[in-house]
Amino acid sequence: VSIKKTKMESLSELDRKHYLHPTTPAKMHFEQGPSIIVSEGKGINIKDVKGDEYIDAMSMLWNVNLGHGQKELADAAQEQMMKLAYSSSFFGNSHETAIQLAEKLASLTPDDLNVVFYTSGGSESNDTAFKLSRYYWQIKGQPERTKIIGLERAYHGVTMGATSATGVREFQNFVNAKAPDFFHAKAHQTNCELGDKSDPNYEGCIRDIVEKEGPDTIAAVILEPVQGAGGVLFPPEGYMQAVRKLCDEFGILMITDEVITGFGRTGKMFGVNNWDVVPDMMTVAKGITSGYSQLGAVIMKEKIRDEIVKTDDVLFHGFTYSGHPTACAVALKNLEILERDNLVVNAKNMEKVLKDGMAFLEEKHSIVTKTRALGLLGAFELYEDPASGKPFDPSIAAAHKVVDECFKRKLILRTAEWDGDNIVAIAPALIVNKQEIENIISILDESITAFEMTL
Ligand code: PLP
Repeated sequence: VSIKKTKMESLSELDRKHYLHPTTPAKMHFEQGPSIIVSEGKGINIKDVKGDEYIDAMSMLWNVNLGHGQKELADAAQEQMMKLAYSSSFFGNSHETAIQLAEKLASLTPDDLNVVFYTSGGSESNDTAFKLSRYYWQIKGQPERTKIIGLERAYHGVTMGATSATGVREFQNFVNAKAPDFFHAKAHQTNCELGDKSDPNYEGCIRDIVEKEGPDTIAAVILEPVQGAGGVLFPPEGYMQAVRKLCDEFGILMITDEVITGFGRTGKMFGVNNWDVVPDMMTVAKGITSGYSQLGAVIMKEKIRDEIVKTDDVLFHGFTYSGHPTACAVALKNLEILERDNLVVNAKNMEKVLKDGMAFLEEKHSIVTKTRALGLLGAFELYEDPASGKPFDPSIAAAHKVVDECFKRKLILRTAEWDGDNIVAIAPALIVNKQEIENIISILDESITAFEMTL
């Protein structure tokens, strides 16, 4: 007797057979198939092929900032596709939506970050920023400035350059992809042998590398205003400004990776706006289209463009989809909605609801600690005994288990478990309301209780 397979079962079988997944435990996935096969989304909710509804409290990969099912974005894409789905930006070509978006980005970013180079995502943006940094120094007659300094626990993507700058060791060690000339400073949250962490202007770990390698060999420093995949780690007050000062002191370019923090996630338009710091280049992706289309960009100061246009050389860098017309049309509509619906302000207002919710969890559950949020970028940590700083034994996989309990209760969250940490991240879409956050917290409360019962 043949039993008819469900849609989930047959798709799962095909998935296992034909589909190798990114950033996934490959063996486990191959053996067990996908945990969820998503089929539709509306607002902060998604539905799977079985018809079960889940709350997407991570905006998927911190990118679906306007939430799912925004018809206006679909309409903008359709309209542009019918008019001109694709045109290149190579060899002197240009087109309307890419020009309009460049102007819009220039108006949103601080100071004279006014010149845009388009890519298809975050990794490409960071690789582009590294190459343009080196190019800038070449043209300025300092070709020996090639080195890039990033931070430990940083995540900048997976292309060779982006992986090399990424400070999460698991990514770096994968196929030993780290290129020469990339360095990592101990991150602002951790101790540095040579610095004084009690100094609020602490940037000692970056300075150590600059001095050791020689300032004249450093092209750029890259950092996320808030480290995302590393575990939602905030810089101490004064840190961003201190890095800016350090870069100025040695003439080093400062690149901020705003792939997660850009476009309202932290309750300001850009992460750096929280500290009034202006980088020399800013890399963006994700929230620029809320994930409705693939787009990234490097937004640079005019001084960088002004150097680049001094040579007669071809700028030998660019992607087929640099400035993709449809992606740019979606981005323009996305930014229009972001402003029209005051979603950056909503992210700031909802920060308090999220913080209150996590404070409730911390009060109620002895294992919850280090709750934090900036806008709608939040996290908390799990310790066996927060008071004495005793972590959970890694074999317990505490954060993982809590997130699994949430998943059973139809809530999607994400962990950061590097260096023995048990961090649970929360980053709902910027359209989220108070009641939805309270609902997320209440499911978390139940899930943490369920985990505590297993201890
Ligand atoms: N930079 C940051 C801060 C990110 O969080 C990510 C992706 O999560 C990237 C870069 C890489 O972006 P992409 O996956 O679009 O290449």
